[in-house]
This record gives sequence, C-alpha cells and structure tokens, in this order.
Amino acid sequence: MTKIIDGKKIASEIRSELKNKVENAKIKSGKIPGLVTILVGDNPASKVYVRMKGKACEEVGMLSTTEILPANISEKDLLDLVEQYNNDERYHGILVQLPLPKHIDEDKVIEKISPDKDVDGFHPVSVGKLVIGKDTFEPCTPAGILELLSRSNIKTKGKHVVVVGRSNIVGKPVANMLLQKKEGANAIVTVCHSAAKNISTYTKSADILIAAIGQPNFITAEMVKDNVVVIDVGINRVEAPGTKKGYSLVGDVDFNSVYEKASFITPVPGGVGPMTIAMLLKNTFKSFSNKILTKTE
Ligand code: NDP
Repeated sequence: MTKIIDGKKIASEIRSELKNKVENAKIKSGKIPGLVTILVGDNPASKVYVRMKGKACEEVGMLSTTEILPANISEKDLLDLVEQYNNDERYHGILVQLPLPKHIDEDKVIEKISPDKDVDGFHPVSVGKLVIGKDTFEPCTPAGILELLSRSNIKTKGKHVVVVGRSNIVGKPVANMLLQKKEGANAIVTVCHSAAKNISTYTKSADILIAAIGQPNFITAEMVKDNVVVIDVGINRVEAPGTKKGYSLVGDVDFNSVYEKASFITPVPGGVGPMTIAMLLKNTFKSFSNKILTKTE
C-alpha cells in the first residue's frame, strides 16, 4: 500500500521541537533567535510566503522582522541594509526574498549576506561547503527533502536517486547532499534536465525520484518502476474552472497514476512545501546556537 508522506505533520513536529529548544535557550542565555526577511517590491506570491515565515517564527518564539522595500530601491541601498543586519546582533538569520527586480544584481546581494547568517544557504561559501561535505547552512527545500526521507525511515544508502531538475535552489543542492558519505545520504545520484533525450530511461531506474521541474503532472506512472519513493517538489498553478480561486495547485508528478505504483509519495500541497519554512527556522536556530549557545556552554 502506498504511504503518503505528510509534510504538513512532519513540519509541525519540527516546529514544536524548535519551540522547546527556543524556550530552553531563552532560559539559558536570556536571548532568542532572530530572523530578518527583506522583501523588495510587491510580488503577491512572495508576500504570502514572507507572511507565512513571520507566522512560523512567532509560533516557535523567534524574533521576526520583515523589511518591505519599494521595487525601485537602488542596489546600493539594499546592500547597505543587508550590511546593517550583518552587524545587528539581534538577528541570526538574514533572508532576502527572491526574485529581486531586474535592476538589482541578485548574486551581489546574496554575496553581501554574512555567511554566518546565510540561513537560506545560497551564499557561495555555503554552497562550496555543502559540495565538499562540510557543516554549513543547507538550503531549505533540499534540507526539507532529506528530513522527509529520514523521518519516514526511508533509507538512502546505496539507493539510486534520480533528481529531475538542476536549479541552484533545489536540483543541484539536493543531489549534492544525497551524494555525501553521511548518514541519511550516501546514495547513487543521477541528475536529469531538459537536455535529456529520453527522460524515462533515467526515471524508470530510480529507487527514489525527486521531481523539481516546474511542469504540472510531468512524471507519469509509465515513467517510474514499482515501489518507487516519489518526492514531488513542484508547485504549479493549473486552471480549475468553477472553483473559488479559479485555479488549483498540482505538483510535477501526476499524483493519481503514480500513487498506484509508489511505495511512498509526497502530495502537493502538503508535502515538501511546508518543510521549507520549517528548515528555515531550523537554520536560524542553528545560527543562533553557533553564536550564542556555544558561548554560554
Ligand atoms: P527552475 O525553473 O529553476 O528549474 C527547473 C529545472 O527543471 C531546470 O533544471 C530544467 O532544466 C528542468 N526541466 C524543465 N523542464 C524539463 C523537462 N521537460 N525535462 C527535464 N527537465 C526539465 O525551477 P526550481 O528548481 O526553482 O523549481 C522547480 C519546481 O519546484 C517549481 O514548480 C517550483 O515552484 C517548485 N519549488 C517548490 C519549493 C517548495 O518549497 N516546495 C521551493 C522551490 C521550488 P534546464 O536546467 O535544462 O533548463
């Protein structure tokens, strides 16, 4: 029988574990972890996401601040603001919500964030450490995927993991993380992308398939083998006439058909999505712990 991996439940467990840790840390150090989120412009999806982050921080007892900046802010002013938070001891994590307006160089902004506050794990220093297997801030969505696998008791050692998608925020980091010679990883990893001629050749040999493509219902039952574990990262809006919103959210995997063959599968919504914010909070606590708790121990 296929088991649905309930990301909502697992993310809620992680938040409640963090809440306890924050309470204990407060007693021990008199301080709490702080996260600042910087949002430029008024992209509706980013606004929703930033609001959800704030709510989650509140739930676990962390300090959360959101800087909402006009879309026409200069690159220099944004870089100066990041620098201000690099030096502000109340904040242990800095997150600049992407995408940024075209006149701002995203790479420059990410590189401005102090690597010891890079809770999104996008700074080149964090990425480099991740690739060579050193302790660092792991990017939140890939970290959420590994957490879903381990909390569902799905073993990865020696398994063939096929990742479809090679973005810097999901595909590449999750592949690198699963490749490491570590507990919860140690997999044989194949990464596919749009240049793959016959993608089924690869997907059919996956023990664990991770789809991070951005194409609704792309992976169908014919493309996977029996008992595959499926992690669907995709979040795609498709028209749903007659519904209140007029659209619904689907993943990159054709859930209904693949469900029949899979041993485990994540739903969309309610699978990987809720894990991303939970892991952001986890990274913020890690930064706080590195800076504050290790000093008070
Ligand atoms: P990107 O658009 O940055 O990357 C998509 C990747 O998929 C690219 O590597 C692309 O290949 C590959 N791809 C696209 N079409 C095909 C195809 N037909 N065959 C094979 N490969 C293909 O997307 P992201 O990684 O940012 O996001 C992927 C999905 O995950 C999206 O739906 C996004 O909304 C969702 N997402 C969800 C998150 C969550 O919290 N759950 C967080 C981040 C993303 P190529 O490189 O050759 O162009």
